[in-house]
Amino acid sequence: MIKKSSRKDCIERIGGDSLIVGFNLQTQSWATESDLLNSSPDVFANNFPVFDGELITDEISLSEAANDFGHIHRNASRVILKPATYQDIINMIQFANQHNVAVAVKGQGYSTYGETQSQSGVVIDMVSLADVSDVSNQHVVTQAGARWIDLLSKTVPHNLRLPIAPDFVNLSVGSTVAVGGLGAQSHKHGCVANNISHLKVITGDGRLRTCSAHQNSMLFHSMKGGLGQLGIIVEASFELSPTPGQVRIYQLVYDDLAHYLDDNQRLLDQGIFDGIQGGAESDSTGNWRYVMQLAKYFEPGLPPVDAELLDGLNFVLGEEVIQDLTYFAFLNRLTPFTEQLKVAEHWTLPHPWCPLLLPASKAQVLIQDALASTPPNDVTGPVLISMHQRDAFSSLFFSVPEEEKFVYFSLIRTVTSPTPERVEKLTQTTSNIYTGSRASGGFQYPVGTIPINTRNWKKYYHKKWFLLKLLKNWFDPNNLPGPMRGILKR
Ligand SMILES: Cc1cc2nc3c(=O)[nH]c(=O)nc-3n(C[C@H](O)[C@H](O)[C@H](O)COP(=O)(O)OP(=O)(O)OC[C@H]3O[C@@H](n4cnc5c(N)ncnc54)[C@H](O)[C@@H]3O)c2cc1C
Repeated sequence: MIKKSSRKDCIERIGGDSLIVGFNLQTQSWATESDLLNSSPDVFANNFPVFDGELITDEISLSEAANDFGHIHRNASRVILKPATYQDIINMIQFANQHNVAVAVKGQGYSTYGETQSQSGVVIDMVSLADVSDVSNQHVVTQAGARWIDLLSKTVPHNLRLPIAPDFVNLSVGSTVAVGGLGAQSHKHGCVANNISHLKVITGDGRLRTCSAHQNSMLFHSMKGGLGQLGIIVEASFELSPTPGQVRIYQLVYDDLAHYLDDNQRLLDQGIFDGIQGGAESDSTGNWRYVMQLAKYFEPGLPPVDAELLDGLNFVLGEEVIQDLTYFAFLNRLTPFTEQLKVAEHWTLPHPWCPLLLPASKAQVLIQDALASTPPNDVTGPVLISMHQRDAFSSLFFSVPEEEKFVYFSLIRTVTSPTPERVEKLTQTTSNIYTGSRASGGFQYPVGTIPINTRNWKKYYHKKWFLLKLLKNWFDPNNLPGPMRGILKR
């Protein structure tokens, strides 16, 4: 039930001239106390909700919200809601539905294509809903704005873990579930989103719904990897299991892609390792080489037998590096690397990003072609290459190639000396690589900077396009959240 209050009540309750207390229907803008007092009451919405959280309109905050990790697209919203309660989000969604206001949802803003922005609309910043509670032996409940590192910092000290976490643990939980989420354990467990037991979602029609495999199951399956198209995830719960005592990391170097992919396939089939990831990097002569990182959980006093685990693999002998980490250090392994990039000021440069899912039989040729047209100097982000089993990726709206196995190939560039021409050129190259991969049955992992219109989204969803439209009509009839993705026209 929405709490409603009169204009006068609202002003008296909140006070302060810069606080938002209304909405001007003529200009579609958010109004302060003085706006309300100085204009005819008829121009203001008479059902403006009371929010327990903050409505923010200062220029610095709006400018920050018009940015993301891509640093390529900028769309300025008119207000940011930092919700204090789920009811705040319900109030905003219901209000936005009534007055045709575009709403975007933001976690940590590591998007690269403006997905967390809302031209002239509202950004709901989930960072204010980040409580991790209810850690028991079996499960943990977290609000969607929490980062993985926050969640894992609560469970790991109790020796409890999730089956899979994303590689980069500074992402928010809600957004990772919305995009699917890939990590070193995906070869066994598929998407991060596959491993959820319950979700609480505020659907586009402004209703809070709990869903699981047994309750509102269609909504549940649609939200996992569903790009937030039907609503906003506010809470998620995960099953937990005991952590390993330690993790042994094997770093193996390959001088050619064919051996790298052959070994990756073999390791995927064997299922002996608990983590598999890796990719391409430039060697000292400026050529590409390939580095695989394998993780094996073990208990202290019972270390794995390295020779047995590595037997038959075709890496360059003598270049392997083996080290043991605590389980938490393993989960947080990217932080030193990302800190280096921040120090080098690469974090704030434009990042055209091409994340692809390629059919395994075509991957070698497609990756070789993509890397041949990519001077290693153009890439300061990681180039990721890892093979996966299609069966492990069962999320309804997360599209993967038709073959039994596919390869995640992610080429993230940092545009140093970022002139508009250079950003445009590298974004175009990214787009060309994507187009080439589509012709071979590849898909994008939709977190990159690949421009994609409704026609291409239709191809992305393929046979599920009409189901998506049906569900949109049911849960989000005004096509409210996620305006910048352009999946369905508003
Ligand atoms: C440095 C870096 C490392 C990365 N590492 C990984 C990785 O290890 N694994 C991986 O899979 N991906 C990775 N990504 C891609 C990443 O998954 C997505 O960009 C991710 O979702 C971003 O997290 P975020 O909290 O910053 O989300 P945001 O950028 O804030 O949001 C991402 C999308 O989710 C939507 N969204 C946000 N919150 C919610 C919510 N509560 N309900 C519904 N929709 C919501 C947003 O509207 C947006 O469309 C990485 C990206 C970067 C830049």
